[in-house]
Amino acid sequence: MTDFSPDTPTLREIRAAQAAIEGTVLRTPLVRSVLAERTGHDVRLKLETLQPTGAFKLRGATYAIAKLSRAQRERGVVCCSTGNHGRAVAYAAKKNGTKAVVCLSGLVPDVKVAAIEALGAEVRRIGMSQDEAEIEVRRLVDEKGMIDIPPFDHPDVIAGQGTIGVEILEDWPDVASIMVPLSGGGLLGGIAIAAKAINPDVRIVGVAMERGSAMAASLDAGRIVGVDEQPTLADALGGGLGENHYTFALCRQLIDELVLVSEEEIYAGMATLLLDERIVAEGSSAVCHAAILSGKYVVAGPTTIVVSGRNLPTEQIRNVAAGEPIQVGDLRVNPPDE
Ligand SMILES: *Cc1c(COP(=O)(O)O)cnc(C)c1O
Repeated sequence: MTDFSPDTPTLREIRAAQAAIEGTVLRTPLVRSVLAERTGHDVRLKLETLQPTGAFKLRGATYAIAKLSRAQRERGVVCCSTGNHGRAVAYAAKKNGTKAVVCLSGLVPDVKVAAIEALGAEVRRIGMSQDEAEIEVRRLVDEKGMIDIPPFDHPDVIAGQGTIGVEILEDWPDVASIMVPLSGGGLLGGIAIAAKAINPDVRIVGVAMERGSAMAASLDAGRIVGVDEQPTLADALGGGLGENHYTFALCRQLIDELVLVSEEEIYAGMATLLLDERIVAEGSSAVCHAAILSGKYVVAGPTTIVVSGRNLPTEQIRNVAAGEPIQVGDLRVNPPDE
């Protein structure tokens, strides 16, 4: 692992994170998936949807804030986010009595904005991309001295998300593959470090949307490239990689297979999660189901799917339950043909 930045977390750091976040973060269960029946292999779901903030991002945010000095906490924390990280930072900051400012683009669903405000954080909505929200973060760091808690490219955030990998291997030592929704790669990177340190044979499968995955485009180009952010059912997977120090290198080295899914395939994944698994999960968390149902990924052994979050607009739950199209900005996604 020589091409990683020297402060990239190791399994040891991830285990330290595991101890530090206990009490704030739920140790989520691994449950059997309906896809076991359909694929003929043992498939289990790691239910991060059960976290108090509705998504795994509470792990990284809690650990990063826990590691701040008292003086740093007094300056307050700031972040940019597609919604779930902002909610996690707001939650962890509130627990510590720390002020939080969350910078969001116009693409973030209102349901996520409202949840962040309800936790007492200040929300700033800027522009229509993560990059624009990031500029406001830089300004608050430079002018007000606030501490930036980035959504993925930070050693403590990666270590926090990596605790999922330790839990999966503890609960299921025989797991062969772990499927992970992929955006900036903090989730996948952390899980991959932990899982492969415990068992080097574990395969890591990243899944992203066809529309606007910056990591997929960058892996393809062999260097960090930007993409146009577009409306997608997987809104939590949007955004660029920024000046990346950790997660691009991690993904480049640790992903064994990368799968991209269409909006219709994500809809099918959401429908299977809601109607068959009976689990409320947002589009970003349905990409792994989408990859399997579409046949783009073939399950070949004991497999865990990380179901990353549940924070979708109620309207989308209604649409999926009724088999109606979902409208996201100017994008209309139809249910799959029967
Ligand atoms: C942030 C997020 C992801 C992707 O995590 P990265 O660390 O950015 O790759 C996946 N699912 C949900 C629900 C998220 O909020």
